[in-house]
Amino acid sequence: MHRIYNFSAGPAALPEAVLCKARDELLAWNQEGASVMEISHRGKAFNALTDNIEANFRKLLKVPQDYHVLFLHGGATGQFAAVPMNLIGQGKADYAVTGHWGKKAYKEAQKYGDIALATNGESQGFTTIDDFDSWSIRKDASYLHITPNETIAGLEFDALPQTSVPIVADMSSTLLSRPIEVEKYGLIYAGAQKNMGQAGITVVIVRDDLLSKALPITPSIFDYQKQKEEQSKLNTPATFAWYLSGLVVDWVLAEGGLEAMGVKNQAKAEKLYHAIDESHFYHNPVDKQYRSWMNVIFTLKNSELDSQFLKESEAAGLYALKGHRSVGGMRASLYNAVSEEAVDALIAFMKQFEQKYA
Ligand SMILES: *Cc1c(COP(=O)(O)O)cnc(C)c1O
Repeated sequence: MHRIYNFSAGPAALPEAVLCKARDELLAWNQEGASVMEISHRGKAFNALTDNIEANFRKLLKVPQDYHVLFLHGGATGQFAAVPMNLIGQGKADYAVTGHWGKKAYKEAQKYGDIALATNGESQGFTTIDDFDSWSIRKDASYLHITPNETIAGLEFDALPQTSVPIVADMSSTLLSRPIEVEKYGLIYAGAQKNMGQAGITVVIVRDDLLSKALPITPSIFDYQKQKEEQSKLNTPATFAWYLSGLVVDWVLAEGGLEAMGVKNQAKAEKLYHAIDESHFYHNPVDKQYRSWMNVIFTLKNSELDSQFLKESEAAGLYALKGHRSVGGMRASLYNAVSEEAVDALIAFMKQFEQKYA
């Protein structure tokens, strides 16, 4: 069997140990004599599984007692609508547009209330983030929405603005990549297919006091309070995706938890940025302070070589390096499941390619 070095931005590489475990128990899971996909989502075995996944997820992220963890449908894009429907009340919300995804969230939210920009990095090509001092956050906003890792721009920020307004964070491409302080957020959400499993399941971590304010039009499956009451089983959940996320959580715990992930991820990203900065052939446009550990973008000095780079990198076993069409160039996504060995192989290839074409 041959597996490529996979730098896909999402759906993305999964840990091999997770895939092997899923394969091994595919036909008969947990002595059920059936796969986890073929049993009731309300049965004893599946309930025990999801209780266990939530407990391990809470342990991994040190989720405080006054937060609920929901496992929902509809991806992060579903949450672009669910967040305002649940949290905006009669009021207002502010959005930080720091990249493609922040902008999409901002646009979707417009349907549900008075939505204003806290900051907008578009005129700078989403390569930097304005100082928090210059952000405008309305005191009476119901929440401030941010995107801590912009998957397309390859831009990331760790620090949070000082505000009494609850912070809502789309962590689709950064959750589980390092420790975070959940208590600093009102709500965190993430689609699983970047760093926590396969497409189809979306995790929402929400503080108690933000529940039960949903607009009356909120579809039941997007209503956090209703989903909380039903343990995220208001309708048939994405059972296999949920199970697979559980395997990923177990794997992260076994690998040493989020501290260990953070150390590894930082090392992988620094290596690649170093190789880019060292060369006059490759370039990364992002302000150094805000470079993403998860999605490393780079352009070639001569963009006419882009297709040659992609062709030769694939021949060398390095896949999915094409940058997003809105940015061009290349993007290497270095999620938890991407090994240091894969990064080394990419850097070695980049050096060879440069020697050949510089
Ligand atoms: C991938 C991604 C999304 C979109 O996720 P879907 O599950 O396809 O809706 C939203 N936000 C961020 C930060 C992402 O990386």
